[in-house]
Amino acid sequence: MNDRRRFLKSAALGTAAAALSPLAEAARPVAKTRAPAGVVRVVSTWDFGIAANQAAWAILSQDGHSLDAVEAGARVPEADIRNHSVGLGGYPDRDGHVTLDASIMDSDANCGGVACLEDIEHAVSVARLVMEKTPHVLLVGDGARQFALSQGFKQRNLLTPAADKAWHEWLKTSHYQPEINSEVRDYGAGVPIDKDNHDTIGILALDAHGKLAGACTTSGAAWKLHGRVGDSPIIGAGLYVDGEIGAATSTGMGEEVIRNAGSFLVVELMRQGRSPTEACKEAVLRVLHKHPSTACKTQVAFLAMNKAGEAGGYAIQRGFSYAVCDAKNQSALIPSASVFPA
Ligand code: ASP
Repeated sequence: MNDRRRFLKSAALGTAAAALSPLAEAARPVAKTRAPAGVVRVVSTWDFGIAANQAAWAILSQDGHSLDAVEAGARVPEADIRNHSVGLGGYPDRDGHVTLDASIMDSDANCGGVACLEDIEHAVSVARLVMEKTPHVLLVGDGARQFALSQGFKQRNLLTPAADKAWHEWLKTSHYQPEINSEVRDYGAGVPIDKDNHDTIGILALDAHGKLAGACTTSGAAWKLHGRVGDSPIIGAGLYVDGEIGAATSTGMGEEVIRNAGSFLVVELMRQGRSPTEACKEAVLRVLHKHPSTACKTQVAFLAMNKAGEAGGYAIQRGFSYAVCDAKNQSALIPSASVFPA
């Protein structure tokens, strides 16, 4: 059993107990050893959220805006070639194209997204410009790419040698089977483990002005059909922010999230008085209820925070974790509660 699995096993699933994993320790220059107790300022999906949160915190701690913070945070895994499910180095579709999906949203319902974007590393920043510089919410495919180039983004090949190798390996069988959770990504030790075939960074932040924002970015499901778009760029599915209530994001099988308007549902449940964890749990149960035979075999996880700075998550399967950073820069990787414990 690897370090992360050992850590997750030893943590009490079904609770919000927090602790730092050995990998998180190694990934961060200044490791904290206590779970955050104060108001949560930034929260993000998976273990790679630890580093993303630190980039976001660098902005929040300088009295910066949550929108800048979530963009900065999301750019960290986008640029990390060891991460095979986000940005540069992401695994391609079945035809060998790395296609990115991303979205961003602020507390005033301003939002933007890109889907099936090729050749541009920082999809989240393109999404932000869709929001700020166009009258639209979502640009896709070549139109998104052309827009990015017109805004000065540099074109680059996102298919790294490691991802290309993994694709050629997959081509030998061409068997498409989404994995429930990606295997461990040993970023701390600098050893990439080429197992992840999906996972997304969703990041939510609350700034000192009381404003929420969120961002979400992914290369989506590895070996997907060319042109497939997941939940991440769809406002209301992979991401939703309501400045009066809270924010939510998702990871896992995007199709199941889209058909339930997942992140919007989580925010609406918080509006009705649920805590972030309760809202995420109810949304996960809704996903399971709609398509039990499909959903029980896959992973869907939601992560949410409310305006008071409370955060929580819930997943169908065990193995989902989320990174939390509070107003004192106390950081933790929290094993999410889940419907199925093993
Ligand atoms: N939600 C992403 C998608 O369906 C993948 C993931 O987060 O695992 O594209």
